[in-house]
Amino acid sequence: MSDELILVVEDEEDIQELLEYTLLNAGYRVDVTDRGEEALELVREHSPALMVLDLMLPGLDGLEVCRRLKSSEDVNSLPVIILTAKGEEEDVIAGFDAGADDYITKPFSPKVLTARVQAVLRRSAESRPDAEGAITFGEIHIHPGRFEVHVDGEPVSLTHTEFRILHFLASRPGWVFSRTQIVRAVHGEDYPVTGRSVDVQVASLRKKLGAASRHITTVRGVGYKLGE
Ligand code: CA
Repeated sequence: MSDELILVVEDEEDIQELLEYTLLNAGYRVDVTDRGEEALELVREHSPALMVLDLMLPGLDGLEVCRRLKSSEDVNSLPVIILTAKGEEEDVIAGFDAGADDYITKPFSPKVLTARVQAVLRRSAESRPDAEGAITFGEIHIHPGRFEVHVDGEPVSLTHTEFRILHFLASRPGWVFSRTQIVRAVHGEDYPVTGRSVDVQVASLRKKLGAASRHITTVRGVGYKLGE
């Protein structure tokens, strides 16, 4: 049980009620609005822990709400789960492009909703940067400002590219990144990074991390992720 606040943004009354009922039952506090504009105000006024966001909204639509949120430095760490109608894969992709953390397809089961909310909250707590932007994942501590990584308090010497790959994976634990996404994110400054060289970099990174390398998971045919 938790008393974290979840902001629900949904204009269809029956779905709104189902979301509210399900989340209250799961022990969360719930704020509800049917307007994107109001959602952005509530985020700043009430500091929710997570937003459940319908894409089809009157006025400012869900994608635009997500974009504005993720491009605002004061609130861009707020996790967002988007709600889409069944079969609208392009909506899901657009949602991820806009910075969403996960999605749920309508109609949804309350159990699935609760599980997704818990998972996203857990991931976001694991990777929440501190005041200096440092990220701690298990025994790995990443300090981007100082380009430093510590494992169990011991400094680990990484190349620029290895550091950036680790930092990128740690920005969203549990998230699978393709080699292409990794290349794009780190665009090697010491030398050009290609899909294959990502594998080489990750192998070297793992070696340097020692036992902590178990946190880096290879996802066959796709890429890499940090965490289970
Ligand atoms: Ca709607």
